[in-house]
Amino acid sequence: MTAPTGAAISIAGCGKTYPDGTRALSPVDLEVKAGETLVLLGPSGCGKTTLLRLIAGLETPDAGGRIAFDGADVTALPIEKRNVGMVFQSYALFPNMSVIDNVAYGLRVRGVATQARRAQAASVLAMMRIEALAERRIDQLSGGQRQRVALARALAVRPRVLLLDEPLTALDAALREHLRSEIDALLRRLAITAVYVTHDQAEALALGDRIVVMKNGAIAQVGTPREVYFQPADDYVAGFVGITNRLEGIVRNGRFETAAGILRVTAPDRAKARLLFRPEAVRLVSPADATLVFQVTQVEFQGPRQRVTLNAGDGTRIIAEAPADLPLSAGTAIGLVLDANRYSLA
Ligand code: ADP
Ligand code: MG
Repeated sequence: MTAPTGAAISIAGCGKTYPDGTRALSPVDLEVKAGETLVLLGPSGCGKTTLLRLIAGLETPDAGGRIAFDGADVTALPIEKRNVGMVFQSYALFPNMSVIDNVAYGLRVRGVATQARRAQAASVLAMMRIEALAERRIDQLSGGQRQRVALARALAVRPRVLLLDEPLTALDAALREHLRSEIDALLRRLAITAVYVTHDQAEALALGDRIVVMKNGAIAQVGTPREVYFQPADDYVAGFVGITNRLEGIVRNGRFETAAGILRVTAPDRAKARLLFRPEAVRLVSPADATLVFQVTQVEFQGPRQRVTLNAGDGTRIIAEAPADLPLSAGTAIGLVLDANRYSLA
């Protein structure tokens, strides 16, 4: 294993109010470990880019905010003194320069001699497996190739921190997934500290060592992908990361009672209760073998699996997953079994 070459980032009390009065970010505290990939996940407008630009040094935090790299305060340092690489959604490349000149650009700005910077740029192109494109002009490249060049350019200066702002959002689905796994492998190999902004939960779950779920300029939860997925801090996180089913009912005598039937639970009586579970926590069985019975309303074949929409009888819809070979059709009744450790009662 390579030793971590990335810097640890410490963010303390960093908020951001723009000059027009927009409060984009409430003061947040966050530690990014050396070498980890931290994903900032949340809907548009929740402050992801603002937080990333604070780390980059493209914005200064409101009074009292502090940012340190490996313990050294960088709050007052502009981007060019922080040793960070940045990749944006729009490629921000120089369109009429060659690929290799784009990649070497940061080295030229830093005063590296021509020979040395071309050699260094060529080695990054080789690492990204785009050396064959070296002499092409940017406007002769596809979107995926441009984003590889943008990544190569960010890495060429050997930054200790790599900041990526929705780098795959502009690409089509197949390419997005392909480049996502390439970026994943690259970040792991380089052991660089990376902060990756996305609004895409699949990207966040796949790439993040840890995920920061953001909501309205604040942090809703910080955790590993598994923690955020299986133990969401609240309804907002549960709803944003994956599909969550909700059944309303009451708890009486160790039974959760809902429109679709009952479920034995170990919980005190409650006049209002909600059962929360993921589609994949569900096992569909014959109605005779279940205490919860639903009506199948829609079956969507997805190749290895089927996605099934069920009606609880009171209008509540839930989503379940089933193996592809389970015979199911709309309009029939189906039983639902939940493992005790795969739902929560709120
Ligand atoms: P995200 O990246 O999650 O979409 P942003 O950090 O870009 O969110 O924006 C957070 C909030 O700050 C939004 O309401 C946005 O309109 C506002 N905002 C972003 N940049 C500026 C700016 N330069 N001036 C004023 N408001 C801004
Ligand atoms: Mg943004």
